[in-house]
Amino acid sequence: MSYVGRFAPSPTGPLHAGSLVAALASWLDARAHRGRWLVRLEDTDTPRCVPGADREILRQLDALGLAADAPPTWQSNRGDAYAAALQRLVDAGLAYPCGCSRREIDDALAAAGRKPPRHGERVYPGTCRPERGGLKGKPARAWRVIVGRDDAPVVIRWHDRRLGEQAQDVTHEVGDFVLKRADGPWAYQLAVVVDDAAQGITDVVRGEDLADNTPRQIHLQRLLGLPTPRYLHTPLVRDAHGDKLSKQTGAPPLDVTQPLAALRAASGVLGLGDPAPSATTVADWLAAAVAAWTERWLRAAV
Ligand code: GLU
Repeated sequence: MSYVGRFAPSPTGPLHAGSLVAALASWLDARAHRGRWLVRLEDTDTPRCVPGADREILRQLDALGLAADAPPTWQSNRGDAYAAALQRLVDAGLAYPCGCSRREIDDALAAAGRKPPRHGERVYPGTCRPERGGLKGKPARAWRVIVGRDDAPVVIRWHDRRLGEQAQDVTHEVGDFVLKRADGPWAYQLAVVVDDAAQGITDVVRGEDLADNTPRQIHLQRLLGLPTPRYLHTPLVRDAHGDKLSKQTGAPPLDVTQPLAALRAASGVLGLGDPAPSATTVADWLAAAVAAWTERWLRAAV
């Protein structure tokens, strides 16, 4: 199977030092495998998208020499494909409408003696599941996918090329998660699974903050009969407080007027050091980085 990789930024702002690590790693892995590399703008979360951020990201990638093998795609054009996937799940009895507000979910969890975690998942208590009577007259707000039952939980075991063997009890740690949100947008989990399959992605290389989303995506791939790509989750860049660098915490936009400096910093985070300290052009530096990546990640695998 020939390699197809992708970088899938959400255009909520320009690239920062952390997002470059994922972009560079996925580009290097594709080049090292002599594969194709695609760029997909994940703009389904419309309230968080910043107008023009998509163009800015593409301009930054261009300045960094991270060229894609096909024109970029935008998830905002893909609503029909997501609707078709949701319909397939609904027809198979694997997804259902939910009429619960966040408050009602918290109240139901409290009544069941389960506290919603302060961070992380609010495990849906199943109030609107079909076998519990469905919406019971409430209007549909969101659509959820069924994730096992207490007595038959969905436990996903998967392999990460960097993190090794992973496992998650998706039923108990996540619960029936949202495919289409109450405020309208398609959820990341559904969109990413549909698009990775439609684009023939064989290898997902992305930031480690997304590693715990992977079991949800594998669950959806299995329900939809789609292939599971290989995964490699890259180290995160942390700020002075040890928090993940992100647009939300005010990470400064990447300065691409100094592309080599930006690339060298990202390669340090990836454990490649500086593969070409004397390189003065982006093309020379990237060629050495591909060789270093090949040595680090492919030699052991062949
Ligand atoms: N759009 C997601 C983000 O920027 C990444 C999706 C992915 O690589 O699977 O966080």
